[in-house]
Parts: sequence; structure tokens; C-alpha cells
Amino acid sequence: MRKNIVAGNWKMNKNLQEGIQLAKDVNAILANETPNCDVIICTPFIHLASVTPLVDASKIGVGAEDCADKESGAYTGEVSASMVASTGAKYVILGHSERRAYYHETSATLKDKVNLALANGLTPIFCVGEVLEERESNKQNEIVKSQLAEALFELSAEEFGKLVIAYEPVWAIGTGKTASSAQAQEMHAFIRSVIADKYGKDVANNTSILYGGSCKASNAKELFANPDVDGGLIGGASLKAEDFKGVIDGFK
Ligand code: PGA
Repeated sequence: MRKNIVAGNWKMNKNLQEGIQLAKDVNAILANETPNCDVIICTPFIHLASVTPLVDASKIGVGAEDCADKESGAYTGEVSASMVASTGAKYVILGHSERRAYYHETSATLKDKVNLALANGLTPIFCVGEVLEERESNKQNEIVKSQLAEALFELSAEEFGKLVIAYEPVWAIGTGKTASSAQAQEMHAFIRSVIADKYGKDVANNTSILYGGSCKASNAKELFANPDVDGGLIGGASLKAEDFKGVIDGFK
């Protein structure tokens, strides 16, 4: 059966020393208990090699926030999936709306990134979500379905089964405006039905679908109580161990 997951997305925050401290704090705050979910911290590239050995791997997975769409070579400034994997990281966020909007990532690029991540043994946390205008014109299902289909639906069922999906309505990210519990459940159920149509019920039922967008301690419990919400991708509330723990406790 699918896993419950709380994944932090540090974005472009924390210098190396601060990131090391945050990873130590998250590790310490979870030291005396076993959370009822998998916990992941996704950090900037520069933190990965330092942070991975600092956390208890039986409780906390480490991931990157992106990887290159090329395997290796003359691509100045890029970091490949194999480089990410070589740090001990196990996950990579792909298709975050900030990458789509500010760095012009298309479904074609994302398809290559997903393939390279899987080929290097990383678990992609693949993000989908509509912008406010699309939600207001009731196009959210169409948009999310095409984001899934364009980047992912050439994968085999076995490959698709390795993914984690994150639904992040763009209008809820960093805005303090969360999707209501009902809106989240409705979209998550829709995503699961789209996966079921393509890959069958078993694959759909085994896919963890996380919610992201202003998810925090005060709303995590209600969001995670929905049958199709299997956890969260957490930005702002992942930057302090106590706040992040508050979200993890949404599964208590
Ligand atoms: P937020 O970000 O929790 O700060 O809204 C979530 C995300 O973008 O992954």
C-alpha cells in the first residue's frame, strides 16, 4: 500500500552552515520517536553531501530540488541526476511550479529529467498544479491531467510505480492561502482516477499523492485526514525543525 510522506522543500534558503544546523535539528527532534510517515528533506544541491550522513537514514530521506535534463557534459552550472545520487540523496523534486514559471521548464524537459532520475535510482517527487486563473475558469482538472500525461505517461507501469506525485495549486504556494481540505481531496481523487485510467487501479492505489501549498502545523491534520491525501510537500514550514515537526505530527 502507498506510504504517507512529509517532504520539506527548503527552496533557495539556508547557507551551508544553516542547512547543516537545520538537518541536525530535524534529526534531533525526531530522535525519540518513530513518525507515522516517511520524512524527507529536499535541500539545495550544495547541502546534499553534508546533510545526508547527518540524518538517521531509517527515518529521514534526503532529496534534491531539481536535476539536469542531460546526463553529463558541457552544461555549465547544471547538476545531473547521477551527481545527486552520488551524494547519497534518494529523492528529487521535479516540475515544481517555480521551475516551470521562472526557468521555463516544459513537459518535454521534465520527461527527460524524470527518466534520468529513475535511471539513477532516485525517486522523483513530481509536482503538478494549476495557477489561479485556471482554477477560476474551472480548468484545474484539464491542466493537471495534461501535466501528468505529457511528462509521465510514456513510463511503464513499473516505472510510474516508483514516483511520488505532489499536487501544489500555484495560488496556494507561499501565499498563506491553502486549498480547502475539500478542494485538496477532490483534486487528489481526480489525480488518482487519471492514474487508474492509464495504469490501472493497483498502481493508482499504491501512488502517494502529496499536497503542497501553505501546508503547516495548523492545517496538516485536516488535510492529511482526507483519504486521497497521503502527506505534504512543505516549503515555508520546513525551515524550522519545530514547524516541520508540527506538520509531521499531522499524522498523529
Ligand atoms: P509553501 O511551499 O509550503 O511555502 O507554500 C510549498 C512548495 O512550494 O513546495
